[in-house]
Amino acid sequence: MKPNSITLAPLDAQARKSIEPVICYPTNRLPRPDLSKYAALRDDLKLIETVTIPPRDAATWEVPAGHFCRLVCSDGSQVGDLNLFNLRDINERFYSGKTRALNGTHVGRGDQLFSNFPYLRPIATITHDTLDWYGFDEFGGSVHDVIGTRCDPYTHNLLSNGGQYHYCCHSNLTRALAKKTGLPLNEAEIHVHDVLNVFMCTGFTRDSGEYFMKASPVRPGDYLEFFAEIDLLGCMSACPGGDCSAEHSSNSAACYPLVVEIYRAKNLPEGWEQPSVNGYDRTHGM
Ligand SMILES: [Zn+2]
Repeated sequence: MKPNSITLAPLDAQARKSIEPVICYPTNRLPRPDLSKYAALRDDLKLIETVTIPPRDAATWEVPAGHFCRLVCSDGSQVGDLNLFNLRDINERFYSGKTRALNGTHVGRGDQLFSNFPYLRPIATITHDTLDWYGFDEFGGSVHDVIGTRCDPYTHNLLSNGGQYHYCCHSNLTRALAKKTGLPLNEAEIHVHDVLNVFMCTGFTRDSGEYFMKASPVRPGDYLEFFAEIDLLGCMSACPGGDCSAEHSSNSAACYPLVVEIYRAKNLPEGWEQPSVNGYDRTHGM
């Protein structure tokens, strides 16, 4: 939030403010996936596994490289907080910040989800989104954001004068990852990272730049689908905020399960190869 200014504006303040913005990372230089090659496989997908995520809890699943994964709203309007890891090395994981810098604040069909340094490569490609009709609303809000982090008990503690709540997405993801990996809870916790907010409708207020949420437009049957570019370990929490229309970090919202479906395609996309880890040589000028 910006306070009222106490500094005298320069004479050319308006001219400085009127300078047109430039896009930080011109995405026309980003190698884009040929979506038609992925789309060509979608008519003949075989469901091989279904995982149910209970409300106010999280679950893990595996998606082999070359498979499709659907994150499905099954029962009622519900937001999901998604973490993705390299199944073979959980130190490589989804990097929300760089995915945002490269794609924008909210992701959709054709966008790729990138991993952290020093790997920085696309680990998943979004191939279908039944909420693509939403676009951006009059408040600047949209769905599937990479601007939020995840609801967590630490921020809740700060904002609630010492409150203890154990079913925030951060804790749900931590428990599920500990269970899957066998790591102690406090070691699993440090692998939990900023999420893709699946189905969540968010934005920044135009006047104050504050992060906002509003009721998710998701309905039962809606799904977000991605193609696994590498072997992935998925972990998703059914947020205690439910549709995130009012509050999270409590048990007050109506909360529903989410379903994850893993599909095998008959073929791989034509000419597809697993992306290699980033080509930077890591000498950092030394
Ligand atoms: Zn949450």
